[in-house]
Amino acid sequence: MMFEYAPAPESRDVVDIKPSYGLFIGGEFTDGTGTSFKTVNPASEEVLSEVASASAGDVDRAVRAAREAFGTWSAMPGSERAKYLFRIARIIQERSRELAVLESLDNGKPIRESRDVDLPLVAAHFFYYAGWADKLPYAGYGPSPRPLGVAGQVIPWNFPLLMLAWKIAPALACGNTVVLKPAETTPLTALLFAEICRQADLPPGVVNIVTGAGETGAALVDHPDVDKVAFTGSTEVGRLIARSVAGTRKKVTLELGGKAANIVFDDAALDQAVEGIVNGIFFNQGHVCCAGSRLLVQESIAEELLEALKRRLSTLRLGDPLDKNTDIGAINSAAQLAKIRELSDHGELEGAERWSPACELPERGFWFPPTIFTGVAQSHRIAREEVFGPVLSVLTFRTPAEAVEKANNTPYGLSAGVWTEKGSRILWMADRLRAGVVWANTFNRFDPTSPFGGYKESGYGREGGRHGLEAYLDV
Ligand code: NDP
Repeated sequence: MMFEYAPAPESRDVVDIKPSYGLFIGGEFTDGTGTSFKTVNPASEEVLSEVASASAGDVDRAVRAAREAFGTWSAMPGSERAKYLFRIARIIQERSRELAVLESLDNGKPIRESRDVDLPLVAAHFFYYAGWADKLPYAGYGPSPRPLGVAGQVIPWNFPLLMLAWKIAPALACGNTVVLKPAETTPLTALLFAEICRQADLPPGVVNIVTGAGETGAALVDHPDVDKVAFTGSTEVGRLIARSVAGTRKKVTLELGGKAANIVFDDAALDQAVEGIVNGIFFNQGHVCCAGSRLLVQESIAEELLEALKRRLSTLRLGDPLDKNTDIGAINSAAQLAKIRELSDHGELEGAERWSPACELPERGFWFPPTIFTGVAQSHRIAREEVFGPVLSVLTFRTPAEAVEKANNTPYGLSAGVWTEKGSRILWMADRLRAGVVWANTFNRFDPTSPFGGYKESGYGREGGRHGLEAYLDV
């Protein structure tokens, strides 16, 4: 039975969105010399603000500001850098409601997630790397590890502030300075973060934010005075970036796509597995690189599990991201919605069976209902390509060896999940799954102390934990 709840919207009065924004360079907000673009609320298509599109010249100014700041910042004792990072972390906590509401407005994700997942993790990343800043000689990278210099960082729209934290916190802790480009559709929380840098009295130029589209990102990646490139996004753009930095002195980390298998054995606690499957693919509308987008279920329990899963999906609430009862928010952009539709239609064309719970989609904005495909073959596009939406492909297996074979039958290798009550089976599976992260009896759990990254076409390098320091040190 589905309970009806009265709407419980979070107030948006807590955010103050300016009609237009410039770039954040050398500690100041400045006008760009390029054009500008609009950022919209994907749940209503309302224009939220007009944001500067940084030209190559603007990117050059930002890189020069970062270079100038690098001398003092890198020479500062780690214990002093830590103070700034701790201060930023505390301000993020103090302003977390404002940041969460802004994130939900610009991205479309439910406030329940931005408030309870994104923001606590963002603060935790800054706290965690603040703790490393004065302990770098003990991190296992030599007695006096040195920073690389200026980091050019390009991030996607699915976790705008969290990806910013993953990139900026370790870079600064190690003594680098940064120029960061947020995604075109979600620039607002990065610009609020710029304000937080000012509030924390961070020395000018240590953090620079250049907004814009792909060309701005390319100008940053190609800039000759950038020492390190860090990218999270599609495998396609990751390839372009790898090509453009090949043969240069630039150090690169790439966090790319995924097509994770979430594997449920017949001895798993089924209700718990159902929650894990839902969290694995419907969290953040499935806009998650490590989403459990392929459910591999042991044949003997497939029917029972699917029934339970469908029952559970019928209780998910889709709608206003700012409503605290909402489970599924808006798709981030019209372009992403078109891609999800195209791949799902193809799934039907290829012969898979499509199912969604009865659910009313709002008239305005970009929406897609939670969707399950059964009868999926490994050759289907929905089993091979990253949909990056709330779409689950269900496949079955009979033996553990078959599960491993199917799970690894993908060009990606970012994450995987295993559901079973046997510890020995978890370890056996984890040994054989070619994935950077293997979750056992849980899914989509993140922690700043734990490294994250991929195999194969999911990219290279690790972010998070002690391992995440390596990407920003000259080792
Ligand atoms: P992109 O890879 O294009 O975007 C990631 C970031 O790179 C954005 O800031 C983007 O700017 C920027 N960018 C785009 N082109 C270049 C370039 N040539 N050089 C440097 N930077 C560039 O992802 P999309 O937003 O286009 O999404 C497309 C698909 O990618 C999704 O449908 C999904 O499948 C996948 N994706 C995967 C992610 C992951 O974490 N695995 C994250 C995001 C997307 P701009 O925003 O202006 O395009």
